[in-house]
Amino acid sequence: MRHRADPEAGARPRTGHVLLHYLRPHGGALVGAALSTVAVTLAELAAPWPLKIAIDSLVSGRGTHFDLSPADVSLLVGLAALVLGIAAVDALATFSSSYWLNRSGESIVHDLRTATYEHLQKLSLAFHSNRPTGDLVARVTSDVNAVGDLFAQTLGTLTSSVLVLVGMFAVTFWIDPVLAVVAFLVSPVLLATSLHYQKRIRLMARTQRHQEGEIASMATEALSAMQVVKAFGTERFEHGRVHQRSAERLKVGVEVSKVESRFSALVDVLGAVATALVLGLGVVSVARGRISAGDLVVVVAYTNKLYKPLKDIAKQASRVARSMARLERVAEVLGDDTVLAEGAGSTEPGRRAEGTVDLVDVRFRYLPQRRALEGVSLHVPSGSTLALVGESGAGKSTIGALVARFYDPVSGVVRLDGRDARDWSLRWLRSQVGVLLQDTILFSGTVHENIAYGTDADALTVREVAGAAGALSFIRALPDGFDTMLGPGGTGLSGGQRQRIGIARVLLRDPAVLVLDEPTTGLDPESEALVLAGLNRLVQGRTTILITHSTSLARSADMVALMADGRVAEYDAPERLLATDSRFRRLTETQQHLGRADDRTFGPAAPVLVDGLAVEL
Ligand code: ATP
Repeated sequence: MRHRADPEAGARPRTGHVLLHYLRPHGGALVGAALSTVAVTLAELAAPWPLKIAIDSLVSGRGTHFDLSPADVSLLVGLAALVLGIAAVDALATFSSSYWLNRSGESIVHDLRTATYEHLQKLSLAFHSNRPTGDLVARVTSDVNAVGDLFAQTLGTLTSSVLVLVGMFAVTFWIDPVLAVVAFLVSPVLLATSLHYQKRIRLMARTQRHQEGEIASMATEALSAMQVVKAFGTERFEHGRVHQRSAERLKVGVEVSKVESRFSALVDVLGAVATALVLGLGVVSVARGRISAGDLVVVVAYTNKLYKPLKDIAKQASRVARSMARLERVAEVLGDDTVLAEGAGSTEPGRRAEGTVDLVDVRFRYLPQRRALEGVSLHVPSGSTLALVGESGAGKSTIGALVARFYDPVSGVVRLDGRDARDWSLRWLRSQVGVLLQDTILFSGTVHENIAYGTDADALTVREVAGAAGALSFIRALPDGFDTMLGPGGTGLSGGQRQRIGIARVLLRDPAVLVLDEPTTGLDPESEALVLAGLNRLVQGRTTILITHSTSLARSADMVALMADGRVAEYDAPERLLATDSRFRRLTETQQHLGRADDRTFGPAAPVLVDGLAVEL
């Protein structure tokens, strides 16, 4: 498989780089938030000052009973106004900072979510087939949201706490350097403990998220296969599996809370020690006349408040640790480069392909240790049908997947119109190769939307292709016809009906090459006949690669390739294979013997399909 790094993804990005990349467009908003945070800090620092001024200028040294002069009253009014002014600045700045941060947080979540989802769409099947869907969904939803919370709730508090802390230290130092040193003695101890705890919390958060991803994958898998669960009566087993993971997650969750509470308690104790020291030393300083009583009020107020920013820093630091663990999961997806190569010179011819398909000495493996295809060479001329037969696991579907370019070969070449498929633009190639699988997967939406899927085809065109696919009569019988809403996965329709909608969907795209992967397997004879009629219409004028277990279907192809263990064992026209002692002939005879042979055929060579069945064309 040839994969290359997507130029947009570049080298695997680190968490920090991802964060910076998505922060950059919101620089303006973040500067606004930063300025507001500075204003909040100044308001917090200024808060005890009116009291200090009142004590120093109006109360100190005046005994127990004194009168206020007109100048004192003016000062008092001024101080009251100052208190109100400080509160107003605080309120306005808090509002503005929170608004800017929340706005940037929401925008960053939006950008990150859409980028992650877009990247998931770009990643090849090689990536998706190895990843549980539930885990990926958790990354696009809750993990991305947690990164948004980092801005909305954490960043502002953290910055403001650090600024308040620095501001308090500066003001206290200006009042009395000795007191400042004593008051802030606890900070380095706290910083060291904070770093220690943060690392532990981050590690545990990573485990938590990993377990949550596992729970999401298990639940998604079981809930989307409810039929199997009910059929095997494994409800308790499924419940048990999720319960066990959830219990493990609970254990780590409790451990995280314990570590956080321990940390918070430590901060309380350290803060109280600092306040006690400052109070004692402060009164001694006032007694010695080094500082005024008002100064002591400011310093004690700050030391008391020291708790809050320190505690906030500690709390937010653990939040940052958790958000970073979740951002890592998002960055991991964004950094994955399992993207199919599309060279700079890839061609978009702007015309319909002729439809000649070649495989030249193709080797392929899904996993390094197990080969799926070995030296496969096939030539399918434009407009002809090649049937791929052979036992299960022989590599038939893999050939179809390579022709549709879901994967690239490990070595050898797959060609469309004589040119390496990797040299055509992926978009054009996908528009030229239509794929119909054993079971058509439909999406929630109307029948019309499911047929038009990804195009803006009008009602008339959709009706035409539905008619050609033999789907008109049952669609008309649905309660709202083409506007009937289908449930997730197309619930409300039978397998045969879904398959005919699938045929209409492919017909609408009018591809030059068709890959039909056992399109009628699992259908009852009547539905199969209707689907075959639709297929008959579909294959006209197109190069078709038909993967089938039915030798009678294979007999209507121009060529048959019998696959065995990843190699082409027999490759010839069906009538020539039947004329010799071939494995294909033996397979045909076995199927006839088992009574599986019938008149199932389709394709230009066999226009008449199903006797007695009305198919609207
Ligand atoms: P069937 O008739 O049962 O559909 P097949 O002939 O189409 O079988 P393939 O589906 O092409 O066989 O599989 C060829 C080999 O590759 C098998 O051994 C299979 O186990 C393996 N294989 C198929 N898909 C994957 C995958 N996604 N990851 C790993 N191995 C895979």
